[in-house]
Amino acid sequence: SPNNFLTNSDKVNLKKWRVFLIPYFARSHLIPLADFAGLLSAKHPDIELIMVVTPDNTKFATSSLDKFNGSALHPVQILTYPCPPTGPQTSSYDEAIHMARQGLEQLLQQHKPDAVIADVLFPWITVIAADLKIPCILFSVFSNFSMLVLDCFQKMRVCPDLLDHVTVLGLPGPEIRMPVLELPSFALKENCVFSIENIHKSGLDAFGIVVNTCRGVELEYCDEFEKTQARRAYFVGPVTVSYPMYQHSIIERGGEGDGEGGTSCLRWLDTKNERSVVLVSFGSLCVFKSAQLHELAMGLEGSRQNFLWVVRDADQWDEWIPEGWEERIADRGFIVRGWAPQLAILAHAAIGAFVTQCGWNSIQEATAAGVPMLTWPLAYEQFINEKLLVDVIGCAARLWEGGKRSTIETENELVPRSVIAHALSRFMEPEGEFSSVHRKAQELGPVARSAMADGGSSMSDLSRLISDLITAMENKTCQ
Ligand code: UDP
Repeated sequence: SPNNFLTNSDKVNLKKWRVFLIPYFARSHLIPLADFAGLLSAKHPDIELIMVVTPDNTKFATSSLDKFNGSALHPVQILTYPCPPTGPQTSSYDEAIHMARQGLEQLLQQHKPDAVIADVLFPWITVIAADLKIPCILFSVFSNFSMLVLDCFQKMRVCPDLLDHVTVLGLPGPEIRMPVLELPSFALKENCVFSIENIHKSGLDAFGIVVNTCRGVELEYCDEFEKTQARRAYFVGPVTVSYPMYQHSIIERGGEGDGEGGTSCLRWLDTKNERSVVLVSFGSLCVFKSAQLHELAMGLEGSRQNFLWVVRDADQWDEWIPEGWEERIADRGFIVRGWAPQLAILAHAAIGAFVTQCGWNSIQEATAAGVPMLTWPLAYEQFINEKLLVDVIGCAARLWEGGKRSTIETENELVPRSVIAHALSRFMEPEGEFSSVHRKAQELGPVARSAMADGGSSMSDLSRLISDLITAMENKTCQ
């Protein structure tokens, strides 16, 4: 057909619908939305997709979307809105969210897209979109389970200063009881922009919510979420499973073109036996005190296991790295300083376990790869995700049962080296006390992957989403 001879820009002009994708600032929110953009454009080339980011995130968004733009798929464009950078030396997230609201409101008024798909952490977006009569879909990178648990706590008006533990009432599955210190206190505050109350309300106001999860893994929590948290819910995940389509980009994923470290750690993994290496990585945000990094280094050494450790805060390396440590672990340890190709690492046959902070993206990547987890939650909703993995699903074990743990970094007790060493060696013991956890994780891999295959639950939710969205855009309905 003559269409084959059109250039990419011609194709864009022929598209019928224009949809804005609006990620939250953090990498762990932008990456899955970029993955989702790829899925959407592959399924429905008639929709022109435009990712709307802060100037600060332009480079990162470009690298996250490059895999589609360089391929036969239709390109995803990038548009920026004014917003100051966030971080310790710049503006706080609260200030940035406030500025983002103004910037995005102007942009949407000016461009009037046919629909928006925005991160749930911008709960006011539903109000802006409704004023402009633009259908609005929210995108959640959180587990349904954590959203439901937080919603229950919020409705119970848990006052963090008065209680030690709280029990969740009204959720399906086993009873959930948690120390108050393990809850993200900011999310329960009423005056916080992304309080659970605000998120819950905007979830019900929006046309629908897409959650990066799948029915086979979150089971009854999907049904409950659908009933109580959204007008329409679409469980389209794990979005990363679409990666085999883009093998060439898996190493660069999420990084900024610094892929050399990436390939060398994969080459090192090639030299190790199947399921013999523990991946140790704590996501894109959390940082440790030097004293904890020192204990962790000693614990990894004491475990006598093979390990691949991603050290994000490697700046003050000399302050905490034990004397002579690198030489002592040289034959069985590999350090990646900075950004690692986590998805490719988890998919490598040499990986046998994953010490994780329990961010939902990391959990899903490990689940899809069939890798059992040792949990070390640090902040946000990570302790709630740990509960799901350890006490409900059974594909993970806690790294440390004792000690004071908290979402507030300064309240956390140091995890001692002996605990770390012991936990790793017990967990890796063949046919040891954790063999049922390993089996459960291996069983879940095909469940998560098949959800994203043709005819799988996530793919049929994606088709349903596209058909609902097109009807909404045709009729200009927001509800
Ligand atoms: N990630 C990565 N390399 C790193 C650190 C993180 O590729 O060195 C990716 C990881 O694969 C995941 C995301 O960044 O997709 C982190 O998301 P998660 O939800 O686990 O945690 P957060 O960063 O929000 O704590």
